Amino acid sequence: QPDAVVPSASLREEYEALADEVRRHRALYYNQDAPEISDAEFDELFRRLEEFEALHPELVSNDSPTQEVGGAATSAFAPVEHLARMYSLEDVFSVDELEAWVRRAEASVAALGLPAAKWLTELKIDGLAVNLLYRDGELVRAATRGDGRTGEDVTHNVRTIKDIPQRLAGTGHPAEVEIRGEVYIPTKAFNEFNDALIAEGRAPLANPRNAAAGSLRQKDPAETAKRPLSMFVHGIGARDGLPAASQAEAYALLTSWGLPTSPYAEVLGSYEEVLAFIEQYGAKRHSLIHEIDGIVVKVDDFATQRALGHTSRVPRWAVAFKYPPEEVHTKLLDIRVNV
Ligand code: NAD
Repeated sequence: QPDAVVPSASLREEYEALADEVRRHRALYYNQDAPEISDAEFDELFRRLEEFEALHPELVSNDSPTQEVGGAATSAFAPVEHLARMYSLEDVFSVDELEAWVRRAEASVAALGLPAAKWLTELKIDGLAVNLLYRDGELVRAATRGDGRTGEDVTHNVRTIKDIPQRLAGTGHPAEVEIRGEVYIPTKAFNEFNDALIAEGRAPLANPRNAAAGSLRQKDPAETAKRPLSMFVHGIGARDGLPAASQAEAYALLTSWGLPTSPYAEVLGSYEEVLAFIEQYGAKRHSLIHEIDGIVVKVDDFATQRALGHTSRVPRWAVAFKYPPEEVHTKLLDIRVNV
């Protein structure tokens, strides 16, 4: 049925318009730190594109936003090639979708003949990803994620972040290791920083995520140094000779080397335990050290991670559960905003 695979011009136009809209919002968010729509609205738009592509796979090209890690390294910073690719995360928006994802992953693990997965369950920190390259325990370079292959060199700015050691503590460091984490502004520090801005008659920062991204991507490291940036580790890239068989083991090692690991991560044995974790943190999501927009569930074992692999955009061994957006009624302005 040739008709079924030759999309009409108007269908293609509709598809290209939708893909371009996703690209436009990605550029605003990643390159200018100035989104025009809320994350929930963006997620909805992205999902529409995914659904469109599922119905019309013949339209999908390699440069579709669904096939690429969002963001691109801008020319404002020197480009940095990551040693190992940086990926995004597959999103799910309900516990039913999460359960379906976990059951599929469990079936894949069983089909590969591997032991049942343990789930390293973490908070999804609302900040921006950095890739830290340590050579023989010395921080030599720091980069943003960019498009996952090439990031932006933000080494000088990262050196102003007190959480991030210039030199790792302990001994036995690999010749080369890439430590990935999220740079964020703690909620308390964000509020204090904004109070100080308001007291000086200056405009407050819009939200911790964009403030963190904007702060890290300053041209002048002295400006970055004034911002209360922190970091938590959430991944490992190139890792030649890292003596760890699982992500949790790696975190323990990195903690002993003085790297900031999250106090909230837990290794859980079943989907039911993951669900309980989600409920627990859903209830207290606004009283944590930092803002979160969801929970990340990862296969803990490195060998199983490698066996499951990844697509061009996301690992097949991890998933992000997004909490539903909350509508808050601000009494002061009487407007509804998404947080
Ligand atoms: P993502 O945020 O869904 O997931 C990947 C990122 O999560 C990683 O790169 C990492 O930086 C981060 N992360 C935080 N905690 C983590 C943890 N514990 N483990 C692993 N990773 C963790 O994907 P994305 O491609 O970076 O961007 C999508 C996000 O950006 C969505 O939240 C989306 O709503 C938002 N966005 C918004 C707009 C907008 O216009 N408002 C535009 C583009 C993207």
